Amino acid sequence: MKNICLSLLLSVGFLCGCPQEKNEPPIPVSLSRRELSIVKIAACTAIGDLSSLQEEFDTALNSGMSLNEIKEILIQMYAYCGFPRSLQSISTLMKVTEKRKASGISDTEGPQPATVPVDGKYAAGKAVLERLTGKPEQTPLSGANAFVPGIDIFLKEHLFADIFGRGILSDRERELATCAALSVTDFVEPMREAHYAMARNCGVSDETLAAAVAVAGECRSAFESGKSSAATPFALGNPGPREWFTGTVHVQNLVTPDEMENLYSVGQVTFEPKARTFWHTHPIGQVLLVLSGNGFYKEKNRPVRKLSAGDVVCIPKNVGHWHGAAPGSRFIHIAISNIADNSAAEWLDEVTETEYESVCSEK
Ligand code: MN
Repeated sequence: MKNICLSLLLSVGFLCGCPQEKNEPPIPVSLSRRELSIVKIAACTAIGDLSSLQEEFDTALNSGMSLNEIKEILIQMYAYCGFPRSLQSISTLMKVTEKRKASGISDTEGPQPATVPVDGKYAAGKAVLERLTGKPEQTPLSGANAFVPGIDIFLKEHLFADIFGRGILSDRERELATCAALSVTDFVEPMREAHYAMARNCGVSDETLAAAVAVAGECRSAFESGKSSAATPFALGNPGPREWFTGTVHVQNLVTPDEMENLYSVGQVTFEPKARTFWHTHPIGQVLLVLSGNGFYKEKNRPVRKLSAGDVVCIPKNVGHWHGAAPGSRFIHIAISNIADNSAAEWLDEVTETEYESVCSEK
């Protein structure tokens, strides 16, 4: 729960780091560069994060992965994420390769897929499945395969014979991709655990599997926090008064004081990057509910509190403070302001550039 009041929060430390330039994170020791690409491409396909996928395609191609190897990950993904996700990723790869071609980069085509014989596909697929699980399939069929024999045929003839039979990627790599995709897909037990077991059987170590799941999870949380950064159901509102705010700020009144017997008001405040309030106090305090972006809450002589979506700040009465956006982030919060003597705030000095920058560099 992020719903913690300020006093408690200050004692447990900060919730998020200062927003920085996007750097390529270090490769986890238990994943090779190639494996990291396989995991990221699979995870981003499963969650539909096409812009991260675009970056990863570039990185993978630059680090020597061939076009056909990347295409093969996307073919594998169609079996586990469906045609729409797979085709979106394929279109994204197409755009990336066109762009690279236009800027004079020639990417390696790589190995061609093997042809799978039309005859004996069911038996071939069954053999692949047994190779992946490391044990003979139980007969007669049971569970879903017995209940819907059509799906059993598709699984054996198509997934395990047609797709796995194409080569280009090893069983180990296909399972690593599948585990990454399933780890970020909700409600896929017991298939997820079954694939973790198959991956181990194909030589993926526990450390590598854990690293793959962690990287995939990071892809998912980065995508989800990015998605919510644009999200507010309320209108932008009007520009905030110059004597209260520095930079571009919009205020949308949601509940006016006269609607609440002059006890409190509720408004949404949208700060463009680096925009912030002046220093101010509230006669009966204020509550901030953070909707999106990264921002700061700073009290005089206290460490800064770094804010992101879901954070709640309880501001005590008569305490000098300011709030606003981090550099490079559009920050939106709801403010619930208590009113005394027809006033919700007393406005003080502007937050100087030096004061703002010192907050940015606070760890
Ligand atoms: Mn305030």
